[in-house]
Amino acid sequence: MKIIPTKGCDSEGKRMHVPAIVEVVCPKCGCAYKRDYSHGDHYFSYPAFNTPITLNLYCPECLHEWVSVVQINLSLTAIEKIPCHECGRDMIRDVRPCTIRYQDRSAEIQQPGFYCTGCAEVVLVGDDGDRADNWLRRLQREAAAEGTPK
Ligand SMILES: [Zn+2]
Ligand SMILES: [Zn+2]
Repeated sequence: MKIIPTKGCDSEGKRMHVPAIVEVVCPKCGCAYKRDYSHGDHYFSYPAFNTPITLNLYCPECLHEWVSVVQINLSLTAIEKIPCHECGRDMIRDVRPCTIRYQDRSAEIQQPGFYCTGCAEVVLVGDDGDRADNWLRRLQREAAAEGTPK
């Protein structure tokens, strides 16, 4: 897979949080305060990415208002391997057979994930676990249906 970056993109995020706390010093009265953009009241509405955008600021002490310019940098990165948190070796993407068990029932599935090249560790990311979850629920439903007295 190859990823070709574009100059910018739109977002459909009505309330977009970003992983940042902004420390602001009022240019008029010098009072300092922090705005946490990672959750809660401070957010960006439909921001453009990778291009300068304005941030409207005001001072809670003297009510002075001003504008700073910031940029939200967003990039798409391909992850082909991750370090193993157990042994430090590379974990690579693979799909391997895996048995899902519930009571006396079992199902064989093909499990995608990061598999360690040095130890037995497996890390599932994103939707990797969906198939296993679905099968487990299915086995539980089957067991429950069979266990229901008629
Ligand atoms: Zn102020
Ligand atoms: Zn490992």
